[in-house]
Amino acid sequence: MTTTPDNHELQDLLDNNKRWAAETESREPGFFSRLLKQQTPQYLWIGCADSRVPANELVDLLPGELFVHRNVANVVVHSDLNCLSVMQFATDLLKVKHIIIVGHSGCGGVTAALADIRVGLADNWIRHVQDVRNRHRAWLDTVPEARRVDALCELNVVEQALNACQTTVVQDAWARGQELVVHGWFYGLSNGLLQDLKMTVSGPADMNTTYDRAVAAVHGRYAAPGDAA
Ligand SMILES: [Zn+2]
Repeated sequence: MTTTPDNHELQDLLDNNKRWAAETESREPGFFSRLLKQQTPQYLWIGCADSRVPANELVDLLPGELFVHRNVANVVVHSDLNCLSVMQFATDLLKVKHIIIVGHSGCGGVTAALADIRVGLADNWIRHVQDVRNRHRAWLDTVPEARRVDALCELNVVEQALNACQTTVVQDAWARGQELVVHGWFYGLSNGLLQDLKMTVSGPADMNTTYDRAVAAVHGRYAAPGDAA
């Protein structure tokens, strides 16, 4: 019997890391010492914490190339100092050119929000996704049940991207003429492909019309059979 913590299960991870660091350095000598000096990512990824949606891997980017924030159901809330701080640091100091909100199919947080499933403390967070559900409830009720979760996943991306546009961080960047574009993407767990939801906003002027178009596009993709639109 031993009372010391058993790190055996984590040894694989440490071994993997050693191998990865050696391979990276041998493929690109000086890789880590260059990163030491500065990071210059062009993109901020705000995605779901789901382990099946690893940001860098999906877009094949190396350390230093993608600034990342993840939470349950890729939510952007105006009172979330964590997310806002990441956005502010990325925008003001790193001068990223793109903020990409990335949702995914079959999202557990969105599924819980849609069906009022209690999961615990996280219910209070998922409540933000329920706000999205409630805003679009009449339309969601017309979507075939099997596709309703993904329909809400897509709408959630569009809504959270709109929230991102409305933060003081993004509004201030646009006001001072900084080049900054907000995007909404959707990742398909079944095929590994990212889809651009065309919620692409580069300034306050096109924010609302782009939102309307993006929501209409979601409606089109999930229209019930026989629907005119
Ligand atoms: Zn998710």
